[in-house]
Amino acid sequence: MAVSKQQDWSAIAPVLDDGQKIFAENRVQEAQTRWAERPQGLELRLIGPLQTNKVADAVALFDVIETLDRPKLAKALADEIQRLGKSVRLYVQINTGEEPQKAGIAPKDADAFIAHCRKALNLEPEGLMCIPPQDQPPALHFALLAKIAARNGLAKLSMGMSADFEIAIAHGATSVRVGSALFGERLVRP
Ligand SMILES: *Cc1c(COP(=O)(O)O)cnc(C)c1O
Repeated sequence: MAVSKQQDWSAIAPVLDDGQKIFAENRVQEAQTRWAERPQGLELRLIGPLQTNKVADAVALFDVIETLDRPKLAKALADEIQRLGKSVRLYVQINTGEEPQKAGIAPKDADAFIAHCRKALNLEPEGLMCIPPQDQPPALHFALLAKIAARNGLAKLSMGMSADFEIAIAHGATSVRVGSALFGERLVRP
């Protein structure tokens, strides 16, 4: 997927023209502005943290939400999906490096969280997503994500960014999230 966050439209337009169909954003409000007039057939994914007070907007806008990372958010998503009668594909974010500053379910809690989503909330996640620690080789994290997915019967793995997407693909990524390698450096947020 093409990560269009903080990019100027002049960088995005040629990629759209080339036929790219899947774009990802990490902020709900920024995505609403950028994709207010969304071309037909374009798939939009949320890959940044989601606050529960933005759940209604996120469910309305995105086709896929990749940052399901806590029970409270799972409940809010389940309620909103039911209310809108809209299906949204979900990925559970796993904090493979167990970094305190990073979002995501700890690997040891992943099985119970996925079971909770399925049994208590009737949510069937499509796959798992991770962002490995910056200062470690990513391969072990990708392998761990693949292992957690396999034992939970999940087929999809969102892993790999500009710097490491080849390694992610080698470890079974079914989608990679590529921003700067595609569009160039991001603009600084105001
Ligand atoms: C920004 C972002 C990316 C893309 O990063 P690049 O290094 O520019 O490819 C991928 N995943 C997430 C979750 C991001 O926030």
